[in-house]
Amino acid sequence: MILVTGGAGYIGSHVVRDLADKGYSVLVLDNLSTGHIEAVDKRATFVCGDVGDSKVLEQIFTTYSIEVVMHFAANCLVGESVVHPLKYYHNNVAATICLLQKMIDYHITNFIFSSTCATYGIPKESTIHEKLPTKPINPYGISKLMVETMLANLSEINDFNYIALRYFNVAGAHPSAEIGEDHNPETHLIPNILRHLQGMTPFIEVFGNDYETPDGTCIRDYLHVLDLSEGHILALEYLLQQQGQKTAEIFNLGNKQGVSVLEMIHLCEQVTGAKATVKLQPRRKGDPPQLVASSKKIQDLLGWAPRYDIKATIETAWNWHQQYPNGYK
Ligand code: UDP
Repeated sequence: MILVTGGAGYIGSHVVRDLADKGYSVLVLDNLSTGHIEAVDKRATFVCGDVGDSKVLEQIFTTYSIEVVMHFAANCLVGESVVHPLKYYHNNVAATICLLQKMIDYHITNFIFSSTCATYGIPKESTIHEKLPTKPINPYGISKLMVETMLANLSEINDFNYIALRYFNVAGAHPSAEIGEDHNPETHLIPNILRHLQGMTPFIEVFGNDYETPDGTCIRDYLHVLDLSEGHILALEYLLQQQGQKTAEIFNLGNKQGVSVLEMIHLCEQVTGAKATVKLQPRRKGDPPQLVASSKKIQDLLGWAPRYDIKATIETAWNWHQQYPNGYK
């Protein structure tokens, strides 16, 4: 059985659905603080609880035979992490220590970790590969790098295998439009643009147009959530095949295509046929100017390749927002 923490969240729920489609049996552990029970695939066993609660973990590890833990449960907002750093160190680091300790106690040896491109900080090269130095500039990135460091330490002295996946910007929704992105409050760019183009907000805010980029707005690399999910399935299969051999790998997951905030607004206008009203705001604290991935390592080693381009990604998100204008509620 696969334990998926945070399986009621945006990314976790898509991965759970993919795992169930592929015939894996899945246990979701989620405290529903930001996740949605409606997003959890009915084929999964659901436990409502916290990753930092050792009693709940003991109960799970004694009741079920867990082969691999996929750890999505975390707070993941750069801006919020600058304002509330302790929340990030508590939920992303302290709770993960509890999970890892229980895994060691119960001899559960395979771990897939949701890491982030925020671990790189402000990279010197325009396309980011895994060997670049990690110098995060916000508590979110620092919290994820702290866990990566713990994983490396653990794997050196224990029978413990891990793959950390450094996500770039995740977007889009399941093609069925039954599950998608629903945060409250919503802070991510694509859902904010689409909600505005649906008439739900009066304008779209652009946080800074004085960055050193061609149009002055931040550049990000947007990856469809199902392409990201595919990366997790390949990582899982690799870990299971490698039984008996030590695995300690870090992979980027991105599209290698940089899109600026203004370009994204134009792309969303093209997909939806609606016209945006832009409101310029000051820079958001903690935002690096440009983050674009090289995903060559995971392509070469695991045969991963993204299937959705940026327009197809926006289209799936748009379908979801039209189907569920108020999210799951
Ligand atoms: N952004 C923006 N307006 C919004 C939301 C985001 O201008 O309403 C910008 C944000 O400052 C960043 C980029 O869009 O430069 C991507 O932000 P998002 O929060 O989607 O992802 P992040 O890169 O922070 O993980």
